[in-house]
Amino acid sequence: MDCIDVYYSPKQVSCPDSSSPSPRKPALVVANWIEQGLPIHIVEPLPTSRDQIALAHSHEYVDGILNCELMNGFRGRQRDVADSLPWTCGSLLSAARGALNNGLVTCSPTSGFHHAGYETGYGYCTFNGLMVTALALKLEGKVQRVGILDCDQHYGDGTAEIMAVLNIDWIRLVSQEHWSPTDAEPFIDQLPQVVRSFADCDLLIYQAGSDPHINDPLGGFLTTNELAVRDRIVFSVAKSIGIPVVWNLAGGYQEPLARVLEIHRNTMLACVAEYG
Ligand SMILES: [Zn+2]
Repeated sequence: MDCIDVYYSPKQVSCPDSSSPSPRKPALVVANWIEQGLPIHIVEPLPTSRDQIALAHSHEYVDGILNCELMNGFRGRQRDVADSLPWTCGSLLSAARGALNNGLVTCSPTSGFHHAGYETGYGYCTFNGLMVTALALKLEGKVQRVGILDCDQHYGDGTAEIMAVLNIDWIRLVSQEHWSPTDAEPFIDQLPQVVRSFADCDLLIYQAGSDPHINDPLGGFLTTNELAVRDRIVFSVAKSIGIPVVWNLAGGYQEPLARVLEIHRNTMLACVAEYG
């Protein structure tokens, strides 16, 4: 691949008054990658419809959020947050389609999915784009089994809850509750086997969170270099077993934000090194 496809629209950005940089991060990350001359190709995503979002959430919750009647994951009812949500979910879904088409990898510069449950938002997350993506692709017959490797520092409780509510057994979720070494050495040692455990899936959704960083205020136990090693292992093992990967950003709360941007840039560099 000459370039890595990045599914980005400015419409996926919002600016709620929040301690989390995540809703602003897509624009900052993409600008940083372009500024640094990384070989990326921006692809305009399609927004998800209300019905697609409601594959993973109750219709009442979806309508309440998009109509700004219910509290979103930022504990507010901001119009710009509501308007961005079909585009954040749409970025991941569009990127996932791209990965299935090219058989290798794509990127969705998104965060704020995995704490969102069937009818609740929490922890900067409103809609669960991971589950919306998996369910939309399953409904279209594009996938039989989907893997979610959630390497954010925190448990994807919303993802697990939606899987339980909808009685889903065709998604393999590995998140902090399932596998949570707290030292770098066992994490790095065990990671190849964890990635290989997704071999029977048609698509791997990889949350390349930057909040497992040892200096993250909400993390963590890995250095910047160890996070880069993590990314290289995920991409190289996934490629060796032939599973397409769509990856996104997930959490990261260090200040200044340049530290978070460095970690996400390293993920893209690892992606380029493996697939470029
Ligand atoms: Zn997190």
